[in-house]
Amino acid sequence: MSKQQFKAESKRLLEMMINSIYTQKEIFLRELISNASDAIDKMYYKALTDDTLEFNKDDYFIKLSADKSARTLTITDTGIGMTKEELEENLGVIAKSGSLAFKSENETKEDHTIIGQFGVGFYSAFMVADEVSVVTKAFGSEDAYVWESAGAEGYSIESGTKAEAGTKITLHLKANTEDESYDEYLEEYRLRSLVKKYSDFIRYPIKMEVTRSVPVAGADGAEGEETAYTEVREEETVNSMVPIWRKNKNELTDEDYEKFYSEKRYGFDKPLKHLHLKVDGNIVYNAILYIPEKTPFDYYTKEYEKGLELYSSGVLIMNKCADLLPDYFGFVKGMVDSEDLSLNISREMLQHDRQLKLIAKNIQNKIKSALQSLLKDEREKYETFFESFGRQLKYGVYSDYGMNKDTLQDLLLFTSSKEKKQVTLEEYVSRMPEEQKYIYYATGGSVDRIEKLPQTELVADKGYEILYLTDDIDEFALKMLMSYKEKEFKNVSAGDLGIESDEETKSEEEDKSNAELFDEMKTLLGGKVKEVRASKRLKSHPVCLTSEGELSIEMEKVLRAMPNSENIEADKVLEINVNHEVFQSLKAASEKDKEKLGLYTNLLYNQALLIEGLPVQDPVEFTNAICKIMV
Ligand code: ADP
Ligand code: MG
Repeated sequence: MSKQQFKAESKRLLEMMINSIYTQKEIFLRELISNASDAIDKMYYKALTDDTLEFNKDDYFIKLSADKSARTLTITDTGIGMTKEELEENLGVIAKSGSLAFKSENETKEDHTIIGQFGVGFYSAFMVADEVSVVTKAFGSEDAYVWESAGAEGYSIESGTKAEAGTKITLHLKANTEDESYDEYLEEYRLRSLVKKYSDFIRYPIKMEVTRSVPVAGADGAEGEETAYTEVREEETVNSMVPIWRKNKNELTDEDYEKFYSEKRYGFDKPLKHLHLKVDGNIVYNAILYIPEKTPFDYYTKEYEKGLELYSSGVLIMNKCADLLPDYFGFVKGMVDSEDLSLNISREMLQHDRQLKLIAKNIQNKIKSALQSLLKDEREKYETFFESFGRQLKYGVYSDYGMNKDTLQDLLLFTSSKEKKQVTLEEYVSRMPEEQKYIYYATGGSVDRIEKLPQTELVADKGYEILYLTDDIDEFALKMLMSYKEKEFKNVSAGDLGIESDEETKSEEEDKSNAELFDEMKTLLGGKVKEVRASKRLKSHPVCLTSEGELSIEMEKVLRAMPNSENIEADKVLEINVNHEVFQSLKAASEKDKEKLGLYTNLLYNQALLIEGLPVQDPVEFTNAICKIMV
């Protein structure tokens, strides 16, 4: 018998299982039962959709049997089984779903959490067993195979015999230690409670051989005499088999829903909120939906696949039905079961299915109202949610040409200059002073940075609230919204701030009287700015950069980071604070020393770039200029 090596990463996982870094060993049973159930799902689906196959509901079950003298626990299923190749592929290599998270680079202490986060799968058997054997026969095949392994050393596959298609997994339990009794997994009560705890809703019967005391036949003796009992072995179905989504909401606790969430591996976090929908009317469906708490590690990558599990009358027909969720709610996890869908439906047909579209629409509304009520009634939770998925909502406002902005605008949160708290647009608008015309916002890499932006000075001075936009997508989303409750959005760097003030008229006069100087500076900057002008918004800072037109400087930054966008440029304006001492030096230089004016202009421009978080175009020239002034 030749031994084969496990693939490297499988071996490592296996070693961890054997050394049981995972504290909850009992979950091995959940893993093996859910594999069995998956395998029966495949078989069941085949039998239902293939007319040439005979269908008998009683043929589908999972069976647990414990043998105390041999110290083995056996899990048998009547599922689809595995071919030799499938055995190699599935049990010689760590299952795909697990390997996804299994980053081989960062080993050690993180491993624990990584494994905890994702399903541990088949290998979890090695947490309780030192030897595992799998006898399996694939549906439609004549040959059965035996896979055996005693741990990290490797495994073997040999021919075997098995009457029916399906899989039988035998665990040789580890020897008991001082801290751990593995014998407990041979006890009926323990197995029963594990099934109840983790696998109660499995749709197929989980049968168990139980020992029962029964009175000996004909021996119900006379009064006063003790009845004689004998022990018989019987098969009993341990799980209730009612899928959780068919149960009544009032029978279920939060914990039940959380259990289902982790059992289904929808996420490794605790869901923030669940929705249990039982819709009866034009369309009929049951659904359990979850709003996760944390962003999955691949969420904002193209690898992430949105979608809900789709069942037709209790039979799983698709793992991730993307058509059920709009992109902007792509974070929602869960399942939908409907009687209105055909079992034989293909992916293409499904896309055009009217029922499915109605369900999707319905679900979308339910998610929206769930988020709204979370925002209204459980603000803290909503902010946690928004921290994880707000970016997705803002992206949703922006994409599809703003088609969904009405749906989403009231779900947005932004950091506000008021106490730096998260606010909704509705909250912002409701407390705007009467004379305030616009909803003001400022952009930058972080709240701290934005706060220090000189451009915010005038608006802040007026006592107006400013939305601090720190996310790339923020300003694009606001541009798409254009206005909220008839109030337009205005970047604090925009040319016209719509604020009546003394500065307004003063700066116009200043522009006139300094026209020559400003023109000169503009020429000196050689086309880098569209204009130089007296600032109406600066109070204590000498300069800042603002922009005119649709494209802001922040948007330029974002767009420039994308390919083929070298030519994208905001129309920049260099604003000078004419009340600042520096301006007097400028004026003096323009009258007496043109070289100095050039030097000052360059310095001020570069300062403005730095404040804006833009790179200084020629750092050497910039530092040379500073040195020149110092000597
Ligand atoms: P996962 O279930 O997440 O895919 P596992 O490690 O639990 O990962 O299982 C690996 C693979 O082995 C499964 O995807 C399946 O193809 C196969 N497998 C495991 N148990 C069974 C079984 N009882 N019957 C048929 N195939 C099985
Ligand atoms: Mg599995």
